[in-house]
Amino acid sequence: MKSAANHIELIFSEEGKLSHLPNYEFRPQQREMAEAVTSALEGRSHLILEAPTGVGKSLAYLVPAILHAVKEKRKAIVSTHTKNLQEQLYRKDIEIARSLVGHDFYAVIFKGRKNYLCTTRLRNALRQQRQLFDTGEAGELLRIQEWSQVTRDGDVENLPFTPSQSVWQQVCSEIGTCSSMVCGPHCFFQKAKRQAREATVVIMNHALFFTLFAMQDAEEYFLFKDDFVIFDEAQTLESVAGLGIGKSISRAQVLFAVHRLYNPKTKKGLLAKHRSKHHKELCAQAERATNAFFEEVQMAVRALSEKSTTLRIRTPRFVSETLSRPLQQLRSAVREVEDDEKSKVAKDELVAAKRLIGEAEMLVEEFLEQSDSALTYWVELSSGRFQNVHLNTAPTSVADSIAPKLFKKGTSVIMTSATLSVNGSLAYFQQRLGAYDARTLILDTPFDYQKQMRLVLGKAVPPPDNPAFEAAIPEWIYGSIARSRGKALVLFTSSYLLRKVAESLRGRLESEGIRLLVQDGRTSRHALLGEFKNDIHSVLFGLDSFWMGVDVPGEALEHVIITRLPFAVPDHPLIESRMELIARQNGNAFMDYTLPEAVLKFRQGVGRLIRSKTDTGMITILDSRILSKQYGRTFLLSIPRCPIELLGPDGGAFQAEMEEVADI
Ligand code: SF4
Repeated sequence: MKSAANHIELIFSEEGKLSHLPNYEFRPQQREMAEAVTSALEGRSHLILEAPTGVGKSLAYLVPAILHAVKEKRKAIVSTHTKNLQEQLYRKDIEIARSLVGHDFYAVIFKGRKNYLCTTRLRNALRQQRQLFDTGEAGELLRIQEWSQVTRDGDVENLPFTPSQSVWQQVCSEIGTCSSMVCGPHCFFQKAKRQAREATVVIMNHALFFTLFAMQDAEEYFLFKDDFVIFDEAQTLESVAGLGIGKSISRAQVLFAVHRLYNPKTKKGLLAKHRSKHHKELCAQAERATNAFFEEVQMAVRALSEKSTTLRIRTPRFVSETLSRPLQQLRSAVREVEDDEKSKVAKDELVAAKRLIGEAEMLVEEFLEQSDSALTYWVELSSGRFQNVHLNTAPTSVADSIAPKLFKKGTSVIMTSATLSVNGSLAYFQQRLGAYDARTLILDTPFDYQKQMRLVLGKAVPPPDNPAFEAAIPEWIYGSIARSRGKALVLFTSSYLLRKVAESLRGRLESEGIRLLVQDGRTSRHALLGEFKNDIHSVLFGLDSFWMGVDVPGEALEHVIITRLPFAVPDHPLIESRMELIARQNGNAFMDYTLPEAVLKFRQGVGRLIRSKTDTGMITILDSRILSKQYGRTFLLSIPRCPIELLGPDGGAFQAEMEEVADI
């Protein structure tokens, strides 16, 4: 029997099985990665691995994971941040891996239960539709019923229309109403769970992983018996894990829980058929109390900060606790109705609705108490017609809260991404997650950046903290776009500046035949990217979400312009509390947190340019602090070496050497 190392050699070597695939090119880094993953899995140890774009990292972890899981009868969980990558793994890479490993195996994408239709709840909702839904909603319900006859998986994503929340929440699988003993084998969610239990590879997203992980108490595994986990797109782990473990309750959620019982406005809900006015009045009272409570929260936030939409709360009971009593009264009343209810299904719905009210009550109470000093508490106000108010909590230190449970002995956590290191080291990432026992490895890039990329630094641009910056920046951006005749992705850190520059340049660019696409909230990110790819002379102005995940190989993107180094403003409560924690531990919040975070984001932005061996182009950085400040060196030394030009006061460029520039 061949060892895992033999298999890797047979597949990833220059003449290996992989080399027979069309368009395949041998990359030593890919083999190195496959060997490192194999060794971590065999040694049941943890690994952090930076695999630059072009290495072919999906196959380099999938193949060893499958070989190991099949041989040892274990289960591989592959967790990603984006749905795009999940789809790519499932539809393309898993199939290639299948053709390489010589074993048959089963792989599934696993989603949270609320994605699946519950046929028992659907039947119940159909029976009670006059009581639960208005005419439009009832129409949706009938379309869901038709679909339920033909769907194979009951996954809401495959429903031919997007259902309203009020309808879907009434028919999706839900923890409190779920009983496979009653429903028998024809349940979409139970089927998905069964398939996940039987599968060798289970693909899911980070958010679901950490939500399920937070509910698990098992010492020796994560989610399934004898599993191991590979996190791709691991750069988002700290933020997703924090929010996954944290808790949140909003005005809309509490109102939803109350309205599920009875909505005084629509006169629909589980209690609508009950003759007793008392129960309906308790729902109306709970609704009024919910609105009054969250309005008080909103006013307290506004009193402390007029403009901010997020506010950290440091004082227990910063508003009076007026919600518990009406919610408790409502729960007691539901309990009475529940006892009298003859139908098992209707009873289950009442139990589930009561549970939701109880959870809301507990979360509000926990938020107001602020009894856990390891958590950060904050309020978030959302804009729009219905101004929602969220009460959020999350662990200040993800490392302290998850590391002991996540990086356990006897199994493996493999974390990979194209962008994890700062200044050539993975220490920052390792320390943020508390993965001190993990082996670290940074692979070389397969691209020739000396030939493929040029770096242009705006030496003469006024720095962003200079009042002249705002007036000057449109001209510098215009000059930069002209250098590549469009084909540019311009990355901003502020929507105000993005709009201002777009207004000032639109006419000039369009008169030169360069179409300007702007992330202004009117067109979806997906549509903007589609237009940008199709019109190769266009220019795209993007904010936060365009710094990562944009993959435009070829001539449509030959220039990335970075308007400002992406330092996060410490106005988010979690960022603020994490910085305070570092200071309390005698660290330097700027050097130990703000700077490395900005460098990682900067690297993501730079990484948008070269996506394949045939791509060429330039990166222009219009934030002159990269040259004038000491920390600029950390940014420069964190990106691939390539020829450098400096932009002088007249916009003309002259060449410089990386060492010379980094030493300025
Ligand atoms: S087992 Fe749960 S999800 Fe499945 S049909 Fe029954 S109640 Fe619905």
